[in-house]
Amino acid sequence: MSHMMHRNLRQTPPVAVSAQGMLVRDSEGKTYIDACGGAAVSSLGHGHPDILSAMHRQIDRNAYAHTAFFTTDVAEELADRLIAGAPDGLSQVYLVSGGSEAMETAMKLARQYFVETGQTQRTKFISRRQSYHGNTLGALAVGGNEWRRRPFAPLLIDVARVAPCYEYRDRLPDQTQDQYTSALLKELDEQIHASGPQNIIAFVAEPVVGATGGAIPPTPGYFRGVRSLCDRYGILFIADEVMCGMGRTGTMYSIEQDGVSPDIVTIAKGLGAGYQPIGAVLAQRALVDQLRKGSGAFQHGHTYIGHPVAAAAALAVQKVIERDDLLAAVRLRGESLRRMLQAEFGSHPNVGDIRGRGLLMALELVKERDSKQPFDPARKLHASVKTKAMANGLMVYPMGGTIDGVHGDHILLAPPFIATEADLSEIVSRLSDSIAAALD
Ligand code: PLP
Repeated sequence: MSHMMHRNLRQTPPVAVSAQGMLVRDSEGKTYIDACGGAAVSSLGHGHPDILSAMHRQIDRNAYAHTAFFTTDVAEELADRLIAGAPDGLSQVYLVSGGSEAMETAMKLARQYFVETGQTQRTKFISRRQSYHGNTLGALAVGGNEWRRRPFAPLLIDVARVAPCYEYRDRLPDQTQDQYTSALLKELDEQIHASGPQNIIAFVAEPVVGATGGAIPPTPGYFRGVRSLCDRYGILFIADEVMCGMGRTGTMYSIEQDGVSPDIVTIAKGLGAGYQPIGAVLAQRALVDQLRKGSGAFQHGHTYIGHPVAAAAALAVQKVIERDDLLAAVRLRGESLRRMLQAEFGSHPNVGDIRGRGLLMALELVKERDSKQPFDPARKLHASVKTKAMANGLMVYPMGGTIDGVHGDHILLAPPFIATEADLSEIVSRLSDSIAAALD
C-alpha cells in the first residue's frame, strides 16, 4: 500500500513515467492523449524544450532567492510581460505558487485596500453559486461548490452568493438573452443592497466558469453590467482567471473578450503550464498606490513567492505563446474543436449542451435532451466517462455537482494549444467511444 494520500484514498492511480507533447505514458507502457491539460494546466503540452532549457538555465544561475532580501531579473521581466498584455489599468503583479494562493492574496489585498482607505466596515464578498476559487479556507469560502464546502462550512467566512450566468439551464424559454442578463444583474444589485453596499469588499467571479460545471462563458454584456454595478457602489471586481486565463480562451486574459477591466485578476495553471507551480495576482495601480502611500507594505507573503525557477518557466511560456502565435492557434483550434464536437454530439440524445470559449470546451450530459433532465447523481456518469476514457487512452476532466438543486454531469476538455486537427479529431473520437461505453 502506497504511503501517498491519493485523491481516491482507496485506489492508487497509474504511475506517470514520461510525457511528451500531447501524450503521457504510464509505467505499464500505456499512453494517454492529454485532452484536458491535467486540469487546464499543460497549455504547451509536455516536455517543451524551450521551457525546460529556460528552467535549467535559471537553476544553474540561481535556484532560489527570498523576496525579503532580493528580487530577480526573471520575476521582474515576467511581471512586465504579464502587465504588457493585461486589460487597462492593471499594473502591479504579485507572484505566488498556485491558484488558491492567488485567490487568498487577492482577497487580502482587496481587504487591506479598504482598511487603508478607512473603510474598515467593508468585510463581505459576493460570489456566484456556480464557482470554484480554490481549496484553501478563504478561497473555499468564496467558491460555490457545495460538495467541496460542506465538511468545512463551519470554518468558512460568510459569503453572499448570486445566481451564475448559466444560460443553458437558467434562461427561461420566453426570455431573450438580454432580458436574462438584465435579470442576473438585477439580482446582483439586490444582493448588494441586502448586504449593504458600504459593507462589501468585492464581487468575485470566473469570467468563464471552469471546475464547477465546465466551460460556461458569460452572456454578452454580463461583465459590463457587473463592472458598472461595482463602480456604482465602490466595490472591487476580482476576476478569477486561474483556469480561463493565460491564452486558454484565445486571448491572454479571457475578460478582454468581455470588454472590461477588473480591479484584480488572479492567474495560475497556464501561467507555468505545469512546468512549475506558479500563480499571480494582477492589480490596478491605484489600488496598490493606496497601500504604497499608506502603510507602505502589503501585509502578506509566503516563502516561495516570486520563485525564480517558477518565474523563468512562466516567462518562457509567455515567450513561446508569442513567438509561435499560439493565441491565434487557440482561436482556430477552438473553433475546430467546437465544430467536431457539434458534428459528433450535436444530436446525441444525452448531450444537452456543447459550450466553451477557445480551447476550454465542455459537454453537459443529460438523461433527456428536451427536458434537460439530468442523470441520477448516484450513477456518477461523469466519473464513469473518465474511467472509460482512461481505458481508451484519453484524459478528460469530469465534473459532477449540484447547482441550485439540479445535478450536472460535465466533461471538460482543455487540450494543449499545440494540438493539431488530427489530435482533436482523435480526442473527439475516443471521447465518443468513452461516452458510449459509460452509457452502456
Ligand atoms: N480558481 C479557479 C477558477 C480554478 O479553476 C482553480 C483550480 O481548479 C483554483 C482557483 C485553485 O487553483 P489551485 O488548484 O492551483 O490552488
